[in-house]
Amino acid sequence: MSLQIYNSLSRRKEPFEPIEPGKVRLYVCGVTVYDRSHTGHAMSALVFDMVRRYLEYRGYAVRHVVNFTDVDDKIIRRCAEAGISAFELADRYAREYLDDMARMGVQPATLYPRVSSEIPAIVAMIGELIEGGHAYRAPNGDVYFDARSFSGYGKLSGRSLDELESGEEPSEAKRHPADFALWKAARPGDPWWEAPWGRGRPGWHIECSAMARAHLGDRIDIHGGGNDLIFPHHENEIAQSESARGVAPFARYWMHNGMLQFPSGGSGVDKMSKSLGNVVPIGDFLDAHEADAFRLFVLSSHYRRPVTLTDEALAAAEKGLERLRGALAPARPAAGEGATAAEAELAAAAARARTDFLREMDDDFGTPAAIAALFELGKALNRARDAGAGVDALAAAQADLIELAGAIGFDLAGGARPAETDAGAADRATPLVELLLELRGMARAERQWAMADRIRDRMAELGIEVVDTSEGSTWRWA
Ligand SMILES: [Zn+2]
Repeated sequence: MSLQIYNSLSRRKEPFEPIEPGKVRLYVCGVTVYDRSHTGHAMSALVFDMVRRYLEYRGYAVRHVVNFTDVDDKIIRRCAEAGISAFELADRYAREYLDDMARMGVQPATLYPRVSSEIPAIVAMIGELIEGGHAYRAPNGDVYFDARSFSGYGKLSGRSLDELESGEEPSEAKRHPADFALWKAARPGDPWWEAPWGRGRPGWHIECSAMARAHLGDRIDIHGGGNDLIFPHHENEIAQSESARGVAPFARYWMHNGMLQFPSGGSGVDKMSKSLGNVVPIGDFLDAHEADAFRLFVLSSHYRRPVTLTDEALAAAEKGLERLRGALAPARPAAGEGATAAEAELAAAAARARTDFLREMDDDFGTPAAIAALFELGKALNRARDAGAGVDALAAAQADLIELAGAIGFDLAGGARPAETDAGAADRATPLVELLLELRGMARAERQWAMADRIRDRMAELGIEVVDTSEGSTWRWA
């Protein structure tokens, strides 16, 4: 059977057929970079990292675009409070997000466009929408999308315009409550750009339509995001993209992940929210937990369902990860009596695990059952080792386990990723440490003792110990 994907638009599973054979155009809504990213963002990124890795494992070349929203009310407000420029703040959190994703073991997207550098594409699309009678300039200078001009409005979320009309307060600027801002006229203190209809900045929804088109084309294969984005964001993306050039469908498959939840004080669950105090920055989370344990926790549920993050669930994932790694232990020194039978059984178990894994993954990325197949192979490995299976037979099945787990992003053989990242960072730091040591040497040669000592003390604070010997100075990580 071929890969089946649940399409939120048709509300059923469909066989996956990309526009261009062998290639996948994947767009996933990214983060608004006004604060540190949290475990909820990590979960969504991890789900689509799994999707992309599995598509690549299946032989597709995936072009993966994720946007950074760096022009936004929240950013502007924050910056006014902090007295720094909007782009400075956004850039800081965008960099931190990329670092967080690297620590999380999430592959970097092919491209991370930012609103601030995509204005021409955004202005062009709004121009087309005005031209085509899908957008209008309101008396206050804003430009709105005319929801009634698009007959398909509501097809993703299942909401009708009538229903939306009754639910909302009438506004002076908008002709219909479902209309939404494509362009917000410049207000004092806000960042602005020139446009034929007046200075201002883009609304939120238009950026994704414009960026997807600019970097992936008029039509894309998969559009992803959290299910909290279905309405209004994705509904509005469809309205914009399909109205601009009349090309439909904008996205062939809409994929939505369930939300990360937290146990509440009572018996139910809470959403993530600042006021409940359950918002944990990714960096802090990874200081306490391993990335692959979080991956195992997330992928142990189906991506469309909500998952509840509890200490018990995380501890179970940590144990599970240990079990999978334990299956990679080497063979016992002497082959036992039942070795041949055990090896045959292990080879059969490995073949079965592969079949099961692929079947479950092909069924709308069924990671819970696919992971169960990995655990079965792990058990078979341990049984075979106990029964005295030889090195080659164990290594072959272990390679299968590493390969299949790797197809959904686990790094079983490499061990803990954070440590690996630290080692990589340490490697890159070496030339800088050597440079500091050289400067200290020069200071000493010129008898500038205070300077030399200051450099040594500051290096010590950074965890680098300077060792002076008769042959000169060396260093080591403290
Ligand atoms: Zn978006």
